[in-house]
Amino acid sequence: MNNKIPFSIEFFPPATPEGMTKLQGVCEQLATLGPEFFSVTYGAGGSTRDRTLQVVREICAAGHDAAPHLSCIGATQDSIRDHLAEFREIGVKRIVALRGDLPSGMADPGEFRYANELVEFIREESGSEFFIEVASYPETHPQARNADADMAAFVKKVNAGASSSITQYFYNADSYFYFVDAARKAGVTIPIVAGIMPIASFTKLSRFSESCGAEIPQWMRRKFEGFGDDAESVRAFGLDVVTSLCERLIAGGVPSLHFYTLNQAGLTTALVQRLGLV
Ligand code: FAD
Repeated sequence: MNNKIPFSIEFFPPATPEGMTKLQGVCEQLATLGPEFFSVTYGAGGSTRDRTLQVVREICAAGHDAAPHLSCIGATQDSIRDHLAEFREIGVKRIVALRGDLPSGMADPGEFRYANELVEFIREESGSEFFIEVASYPETHPQARNADADMAAFVKKVNAGASSSITQYFYNADSYFYFVDAARKAGVTIPIVAGIMPIASFTKLSRFSESCGAEIPQWMRRKFEGFGDDAESVRAFGLDVVTSLCERLIAGGVPSLHFYTLNQAGLTTALVQRLGLV
């Protein structure tokens, strides 16, 4: 069996010049592993607009493929049109199209309600120029009425013109396989790429998972709790768990893996090497 599937890398735009400089080094290190592309997140409401673009520009200038995330909450058709023009100018070919979440204190949701409307608008404005990635949720989006309603919303994004999808991270491989099965039964044929979150800190992972609705299985939670402040044990166990998860996904036919790096090269490099993806 050939286990060498493609993978991609996600960064967030750093808030400081030092962070920007550090990210260039991280990007160069990860580029040696041969990822398909680097995606760069976008603060909903446009809070990171300039920084996201700056990182995307730098990645493209270094000769790599970059995919800016673009969220539509709080946006207008004109502001999205401006973004598309900037992407075109930089040479971007791939966009991760999202609704995002309305930042606290921002009252006006703008002219788009859901990601399917953004995908539809991008297709209307630019035809097949961009490869459009959309988000999907094997464990169901936290605001969805239920799993079936969330699947129906995913199908809408696909029918609006999405090219591929990247999932929220998860640690239960069955949730991914069940989701892919349900999507195929609903007529979805685009690739469903697994989002993978390496584990550097259990405290941070716990906090983040609560807000995005990703489940940390009880057996993992109890094991991490037992490590307390022992960062080395957290790292070693986290690597083992995530390696096994990826191995199961690869054996089950996942088309590609997308690593949420949190701008750190170490764990993603170790995972890619352990999985033999280099
Ligand atoms: P949608 O697909 O619009 O779904 C949002 C909710 O509305 C869901 O509950 C869905 O079931 C429901 N829904 C969708 N369409 C309809 C419809 N037509 N009618 C009724 N209900 C509907 N956040 C950021 O701020 N910046 C980022 O860069 C970022 N990158 C991400 C990358 C990935 C791969 C993933 C998985 C998530 C990312 N997020 C990011 C988080 C994301 O913005 C949030 O999860 C957000 O709450 C939902 O965005 P979405 O595009 O999935 O929304």
